[in-house]
Amino acid sequence: MWIADNKPETVSPTVIAIGWLDIEHPYPTGPVDEAVYRKLIELCKMNHGFYATAGNHTCNLCQFDGVHDYGDVYIPGNGFLYIFPKMITHYINIHWYQPPHAFCQAVLQCPPINSMEYKKAFLSNGGREFMKQLNKI
Ligand SMILES: [Zn+2]
Repeated sequence: MWIADNKPETVSPTVIAIGWLDIEHPYPTGPVDEAVYRKLIELCKMNHGFYATAGNHTCNLCQFDGVHDYGDVYIPGNGFLYIFPKMITHYINIHWYQPPHAFCQAVLQCPPINSMEYKKAFLSNGGREFMKQLNKI
């Protein structure tokens, strides 16, 4: 599934999509601060205790044998949430994807996903509205 960077995803207008790439759509490329990449790897290893994510992703930017990954990650933005596929680290490392600067800042500032600080930041930056939306489905 392709979603343009910084566009609301379908579930909730308080959730902004980053890194939903597809070979059919051009994407920004360039160097990324290694600290951002390393922090993303760390965030992707953690589980959201209170909201299970789902989503199978297959990279179609790879010429052959596109890698598979599973799961999405939510991090607090400034008044909204970002959602990105765990595949984002592959896109950055192998395909030189360059996420928006504001997103990279949010990554660096994101508390550990299992922490109370994260839960508070999640809820106060669109998470509450998002959880209400989910309950409607
Ligand atoms: Zn790939």
